[in-house]
Amino acid sequence: MRKETIVDLLHTHGLKATSSRIELLSRMHDYPSAIPYSKLQQHLAFVDRVTLYRTIEALVEKGLIHQAYREQSEIYYALCDKNCNPGSHHDEHIHFKCKSCGMVQCLTLREEIQISMEGHELQGLDIRAEGICSDCKEVPL
Ligand SMILES: [Zn+2]
Ligand SMILES: [Zn+2]
Ligand SMILES: [Zn+2]
Repeated sequence: MRKETIVDLLHTHGLKATSSRIELLSRMHDYPSAIPYSKLQQHLAFVDRVTLYRTIEALVEKGLIHQAYREQSEIYYALCDKNCNPGSHHDEHIHFKCKSCGMVQCLTLREEIQISMEGHELQGLDIRAEGICSDCKEVPL
């Protein structure tokens, strides 16, 4: 993604285009799947932990990225679709973790999931799945 596009994206989501935000988004865009926090730390070694934490928080809050997967030692982040807005996320897809290569992917659902929860209002959905991804399945053992 071009730097100008990222700057635009930040502005339309009400954020200033700081170097750490630009760097983080461009790294995430180049990464083939949801990016682990440890990778972000490596790429953004020029900022301290607190700044990195706040950078992520701001991007999540403004609907640019979302937490895709969480494990004891790692958190994965993914870029949001266009339909996420400041204050509201609509990432109603499956987060799939491959047990072989460890990649976490956002998988769009072919059909809308219908969930009835009597008396409750659904505001978000977080579906986690694990298995073997299509790339790993193709490799003969
Ligand atoms: Zn989102
Ligand atoms: Zn895999
Ligand atoms: Zn996702």
